[in-house]
Amino acid sequence: MVHSTIRCTQCVLTEKTPNISFNEDGVCNYCTSYEKFRPHGERRLLRIIDSHRNKAKKYECMVNISGGRDSTYTLLKLRKDYGVKVLTFNYANPFTDEQAEKNINNMVRILGIDLIKFKHTSSIHESCFKNNLTAWFKNPSPAMVPMMCIGCKLIWKNVVETAKKLGISLIVSGGNPYEYTSFKKELLTVSRDVDLSTYYVQYIRGLAKESLKNLSYVKPHYLPTLLKGYLFANQTAIGPRVFASDIEKIDFFHYIKWNEKDVISRITNELKWNYPKELHSTWRFDCRISHLKDYMYMKTLGMTEKDDFYAKMVREGLLTRNQALARLEKENQLHMDKIAKILEQMSLSPKYFLT
Ligand SMILES: [Zn+2]
Repeated sequence: MVHSTIRCTQCVLTEKTPNISFNEDGVCNYCTSYEKFRPHGERRLLRIIDSHRNKAKKYECMVNISGGRDSTYTLLKLRKDYGVKVLTFNYANPFTDEQAEKNINNMVRILGIDLIKFKHTSSIHESCFKNNLTAWFKNPSPAMVPMMCIGCKLIWKNVVETAKKLGISLIVSGGNPYEYTSFKKELLTVSRDVDLSTYYVQYIRGLAKESLKNLSYVKPHYLPTLLKGYLFANQTAIGPRVFASDIEKIDFFHYIKWNEKDVISRITNELKWNYPKELHSTWRFDCRISHLKDYMYMKTLGMTEKDDFYAKMVREGLLTRNQALARLEKENQLHMDKIAKILEQMSLSPKYFLT
């Protein structure tokens, strides 16, 4: 008998999704417990922005840009639609995609805004990533895939330090609320309906527990980096909250409803934004590590973050189930050539990877 994959009849998640169950109608528990996201609205966003406008200041707000679609759109809205004096901050991530780099240059030039490009003085990002990557292959666990991103988690310290130095009191991020992948929470036993700070504590506890199962992650040399990564993981983490309590930090798409069509058409037409066509996806190509993460999730779970993301878009009514399935069919291909390049950059043999 041929075993075909069981999929939720409402979204697109399969039986392989962590902790999934289906009711008698074949609808998954991710769907039945889902609460639609409600943005706070433009009025509230403008109220915040207006409270930071200041004629005497050179910059009224800082936006972190990666060259990806959502941070690009956030910048476009703030500068062009709302006329805010913006400073952009970009981390020169050693794994930035070439097209993302071009996008950054284009948007900064077209909008005529200043850019601070932050670079680590050491190769801490690369060496920490290499350590986590080799640790992962000793005991592949889907729960530990986020450890591949530790390098970028170090950046929030520099973001808030830069804002402080320049007297900037508002930082706007382009975080997409539909990207908070629920299956990763399940893997780290983080409750689904908790506030951000509880989520953060549970998330760290989950990662720490997993690290104890595979001690290759916790080499003494990398402990300070790990700790810094945990403390400054994102704008809601303890680090930015304590260290920069006087700076307001908001997510653009928590106020304005994320509309994929509008995002892509505006940034393409107005900022010459583009994506690597061979990927068939406009989502998350800005960092090349995403190809490796796709591989890791696919090998351990038979799914990627895209399954979760598109399932959410279906629940939100932003995509039909069939559209989502068609996208997954096309976009859930592994890009081994791009992964090979990362390994080459890390002086790891592709053979090492395949065994
Ligand atoms: Zn479902």
